[in-house]
Amino acid sequence: YPTLVFFLFLCSVSTFAQKTDPAISQKVDQLLKQMTIEEKVGQLNQYTGKALTGPASEKKNDLQTEIVNGWVGSMLNVKGVKNTREVQAMALKSRLKIPLLFGLDVIHGYEVTFPIPLAEAASWDLGAIKQAAHVAAEEAAASGIHWTFAPMVDIARDPRWGRIMEGAGEDPYLGSLIARARVKGFQGEKLGGTDAVMACAKHFAAYGAAIAGRDYAAVEMSDHELWQTYLPPFKAAAEAGVATFMNSFNTLNGIPATGNSYLQRDILKNKWNYNGFIVSDWNSIGEMSIWGYANDLKDAAEKAIIAGSDMDMEGSAYRKHLVQLVKEGKVAVALIDDAVKRILYKKFELGLFDDPYKFSDEKREQKVIKNPKNRTIARAMARKSIVLLKNDADLLPLAKTAQTIAVIGPLAKAKRDMAGSWIVNADTVSTVSLYEGLSAAVGKNQKLLFAGAGTALSSTDAEIAEAVATARQADVVVLALGETWDMSGESKSRADIHLPGDQVKLFEAIQKTGKPIIVTLMAGRPMIFNEIADKAAAILYTWWLGSEAGNAISDVIFGNYNPSAKLPVTFPRAMGQIPIYYGQTNTGRPYTNQKNKLYLSVYIDEENTPRYAFGYGLSYTKFSYSDLKLSKSEITDADSVVLSFKLTNTGKYAGEEVAQLYLRDEVASIVRPLKELKDFAKVLLKPGESKLISFVINKEKLSFYNKDLKWITEPGVFQVMLGSSSDQILLQSKFTLTR
Ligand code: BGC
Repeated sequence: YPTLVFFLFLCSVSTFAQKTDPAISQKVDQLLKQMTIEEKVGQLNQYTGKALTGPASEKKNDLQTEIVNGWVGSMLNVKGVKNTREVQAMALKSRLKIPLLFGLDVIHGYEVTFPIPLAEAASWDLGAIKQAAHVAAEEAAASGIHWTFAPMVDIARDPRWGRIMEGAGEDPYLGSLIARARVKGFQGEKLGGTDAVMACAKHFAAYGAAIAGRDYAAVEMSDHELWQTYLPPFKAAAEAGVATFMNSFNTLNGIPATGNSYLQRDILKNKWNYNGFIVSDWNSIGEMSIWGYANDLKDAAEKAIIAGSDMDMEGSAYRKHLVQLVKEGKVAVALIDDAVKRILYKKFELGLFDDPYKFSDEKREQKVIKNPKNRTIARAMARKSIVLLKNDADLLPLAKTAQTIAVIGPLAKAKRDMAGSWIVNADTVSTVSLYEGLSAAVGKNQKLLFAGAGTALSSTDAEIAEAVATARQADVVVLALGETWDMSGESKSRADIHLPGDQVKLFEAIQKTGKPIIVTLMAGRPMIFNEIADKAAAILYTWWLGSEAGNAISDVIFGNYNPSAKLPVTFPRAMGQIPIYYGQTNTGRPYTNQKNKLYLSVYIDEENTPRYAFGYGLSYTKFSYSDLKLSKSEITDADSVVLSFKLTNTGKYAGEEVAQLYLRDEVASIVRPLKELKDFAKVLLKPGESKLISFVINKEKLSFYNKDLKWITEPGVFQVMLGSSSDQILLQSKFTLTR
């Protein structure tokens, strides 16, 4: 019996406890023994360091004193070899000479800016996503940074939420794979390499489900939804060895995530056996008193440390109150020790005790940041992120034959906007605008005309008239519309996600000229643009693509690259449909409309289908799916079914297709979604070429969280759906799971 209990205990302990190195743990313990309580609390304390590298000020003096006294464990927003060296030197004056960790929001590139994370997710190219994260890490690490506050792995199903731009979209399966790719990309093979940084899975948890898409708002959701939809990417990040987690600003069912021991202790540290550390979000400990969850900063500090928040970002709650709370017996020293150990462990793992300046090397900084290969990689990533939404009469790609192209619109010459939100060191002067990209790419006999037509927020009648006149002189129009960089991102939720300003009016005026229009939509979220979806000849959803935006878009427009991206998030037709996502359940009254499409529920004033479904995206070529075979029609948990099919490029261009596998568990103890993505393959095919693709469907892919939150399978029939998007299922079959 005791053996059985021990065995069950082992099973309940996560299978992915990160390995600890006993030699490092020993060093951590030795150091801990020498530390005073003040020094211990100091390690849990993180400040922003902007003032430190600025002109003399009281704030600068205070910060310096804190660091020299050993009361700071980490700094954020100090970057560059010179600055990080200077600040590290202060820490090395402290009694125990414990080096600082330098953290920064390296979200989508450091100096070279990559597409925003949501755009990269549209590539469905895990290798490319990993590589993009690695380049960002290489540049940041060469610039003194040890730690990035990325990836954001929050599932987001509400495009009003401005931070949807920072994640991988709506789907837990795709989101988990991308979380893993990003963690591996940022961290490299093993922590401690000077070409990599620690990653941080954020924001734990359910931050993306803010009520009505309002950033920072409360989250109310069932435990089942939390486990089934919102936790998987975090679990994947933990499994991939992510060094740190960040908690979040929101409450979850009434309890702030920062003070939430169910999330931080029960799930992350105990059930998942996670042994990295958790940093709070910016002052999220202090904010617990604003929520009405703590009396004051001291109470907040007590609640946060007990709930498992290890490091206090810019809140001073720990610094001001933890020592006293320990003296009063309200917080056990063991809790502090545990948090300190987690942080020190990472400092040892990074090798900072051997060489605290290891990441701050001027020569490497120059070499890595100026490496032209980084821009080449950024351009390749940007092309892979562009989604072709429409291409009537094969308008695209444009030939390089003699013609006049009018480049019009408020974003046609934009540079800063192409970088999007969260740039930390970006050189936006060298960012390639659409106009510059096209200018560099046009053929000898092609002429470019330009009209800015106002700003993203307004166009006067005169500006529109000028744009129309320009369009009239051209054979084809490239119209650059969308959001400016400051319309999506943190605290940038929008109550209306239609194209802003007078952009639809501008489009309609140009459309009246009868010239074919290629619209490039640049944005940090899905927008609503029905008039354009109906009437434009071609639409490229280009998001914000970073440093190489203009070149990447030109590559697609002129056919140097055949678009291969697919939407990682559903695009609504109307505000009232939000939240709208593909993985919905049936209702008891599924209606069918004239076109024989399944309705999930009914609006009397709007279609129920999205404008563009999850997984949707066109190519310049065509693909056909055939010959679906399942290796078995009946399996048990111990087996797997191998599904195979033939994918053929039936068009004129070489191209990549993202073939998507969806499953449905027909009957279960919890109503299951009509479709769940469970695998995909991105396959390159030459014209006329076919490939046999296969997917293995095993127990893991058939499992779900039951009402007791156990990850289980239930016997029954499973539908297999294979297609080019969640709403274009081309091959179907079924099999049965038996016991
Ligand atoms: C954001 C985090 C970010 C932190 C530090 C917060 O406001 O929510 O995602 O890492 O600031 O800049």
